[in-house]
This record gives sequence, structure tokens and C-alpha cells, in this order.
Amino acid sequence: MKAVVYHGPGQKAWEEVPDPTIIDPTDAIVKVETTTICGTDLHILKGDVPAVTDGRILGHEGVGVVTEVGTGVTDIEVGDRVIISCVTKCGTCSYCLANMPSHCKTVGGIGWIFGHLIDGTQAEYVRVPFADNGLIRLPEGVSDEQGVMLSDILPTGYEIGVQYGDVSEGDVVAVIGVGPVGLAAIMTAGNAGASKVIAVDGNAFRLTQALDFGATDTINIKEVDDVVAALKAMSDDGLGVDVAIEAVGVPATWDTALAAIRPGGNVANVGVHGSAVEFPIQEQWINNITITTGLVNAVTTEELLADIESGAIAPEKFTTHRFALDNIMEAYDVYENAVDHDALKVVLTA
Ligand SMILES: [Zn+2]
Ligand SMILES: [Zn+2]
Repeated sequence: MKAVVYHGPGQKAWEEVPDPTIIDPTDAIVKVETTTICGTDLHILKGDVPAVTDGRILGHEGVGVVTEVGTGVTDIEVGDRVIISCVTKCGTCSYCLANMPSHCKTVGGIGWIFGHLIDGTQAEYVRVPFADNGLIRLPEGVSDEQGVMLSDILPTGYEIGVQYGDVSEGDVVAVIGVGPVGLAAIMTAGNAGASKVIAVDGNAFRLTQALDFGATDTINIKEVDDVVAALKAMSDDGLGVDVAIEAVGVPATWDTALAAIRPGGNVANVGVHGSAVEFPIQEQWINNITITTGLVNAVTTEELLADIESGAIAPEKFTTHRFALDNIMEAYDVYENAVDHDALKVVLTA
């Protein structure tokens, strides 16, 4: 088969590799019908994730059809159309039982292993460990393009942004950075009862998209001198927003998120940070704030599927570019220059 193979920082190729085979009885093999590229893949290609070694097939998002199951797979069957969750989980270790499979001990202490510690989904076929736990049947009426956004991006925005941020009825929420993950938080924040969702970014295209995804207001940081003051002015009593969702991962956006919340407020960090940030404890110790971070658990997939079926959310809106799987190198070029191409998610179809 063919797959996107990582060959060290800056090096990747769409090349011929051996077909995956069942290794453990709980494995399944899935023929990938739809996949996409994630910001995490770009981090890997920059060399930011040294655990990824030469020869690894990239990708952790996908929808496909099961072609083979091991003898220990009891639920998933050959022929099932499935979402491949980006989190692999045994279902029985203490973290899985605590509903935090992002740190499943059986798969090595981190649930994200596709395109990281084992071969991933940017391929014609993929081996899925613990298939009964990591594959979710796609109901009739939910498209591949909708389903593939449930592998990672929508659960990440919802769980690590909206749920960890404890977005509640009537809350004023600021989403700092509205790339795909920020937009995923926006798409799901309204359902959690937010009264106001303020999108903050410097990219006019993305701010326009944010309104379509459910933001009520936008702040273009290129047009506003004091973003924190603007956010406070948009809160009910001028004291700050209830929840700031940080969806970029650089010191400036962290600072904005922390400064914009009210006493008792929440910062939900979703951004992947590459360097230290400052935490002014001498100012914040008195403020009764909550800060959360984390890796997605992907335990809300069924809930989000129901939201798609009811029409409450429409994740096909993420797709701005479509390519044949064979042209995935071209898709990488577009995604690596997403701002120039007005790209949100690029979708690959076999
Ligand atoms: Zn991803
Ligand atoms: Zn586990």
C-alpha cells in the first residue's frame, strides 16, 4: 500500500510500504476512506516530537471500512464504517476507568499513539489496536467529512476547551486563536450555554469563519490596541470574561487569556506550547481562578455524533480543501501555508 512516511525533520514521502497486519487479537485493519492533516503533524515534521522516528506513517484522524478483525474483537465487524479515534485505549487500566484514556497505561502512558508511536492513518490501510474501544460506528446519515472531524479536532475543542473551561449557562467566553481547534471550541461552546462567544485572532478570513461557526463577536488583534481591555468591556460588568480558551500556544496568547478572565474565571489551555510562559502568581493568587490543560480523551465522540445527527453542529464546515489521497503531498503544501490558502481543514479521500 501507499502511505505518508516520516523520514526525520522536514522529510516526508508518499511511498510504498508493507500492508499492515493483525498483531494482537484485539486489533482490526481499517481501509482508510477519508483522512486529514492536523497541526500536530506539522509539529512532528518540524522535529518538535522526537518520539516520532524515521519510517513512521503519519496521521491520527480518519474514517474507513473495517476489512479484518482479530479473534479478540467482539463488537466491531468486517464491513463496519467507522471513525478512528485519535486516542487508543485498553478500557481496563486505572486511567481508562477514570474516563481519562489520554493516559492509558496499557498503551504506554499516552493514548495518542497513531502517527506517533505506531503507524498512523495517512495511508491506504491502518492497524487499529483495541479496535472495540477505538473505532466508533458511523451512523447512516453522517458523512465521512463530518465523521473525520470527530477523530480529534471536535473532541479536542469540546473537551479541553469547553468542558475543562467549565463553560456554563450564560457565560461570556473568549476563544483566543481561531484556527481549526479554536473553531471547534466555538462550534461546541454555544451548546454548553455560552451567552457570548468572542473570537480573537488577527486573520480576517478566520474571524469571518468564526461567526459562521457560532461566535457572537470578533476582535481583530490587528485593529484593536488593547485586546484585554476590549474583552473586559464586552463582559457583563467589565470585570472580564468567565472563560478564556487559549487555542494557539504562544506566550502572547497565554498572557491575553490569563489577563482577560474575571475573578473566579477559567483559562482552558488547548494550545500546544513550545516554550515556557509566565504565570504572575503575585497578582493572581488572590483571584480564585482555575487553569486547565490536557490531551483530548475523545470520550465525547458519541455525544458529538448525536449533535451532528440532530443538526446542532455541522462539522463539514471545517473542510475548505479536498484532495484525492494520492495527492496528499499537495494537500500538505496547502495546509503548511494555510493562511495563504484560507485553509481550515484539508480532507483526503481514497
Ligand atoms: Zn489531530
Ligand atoms: Zn487503558
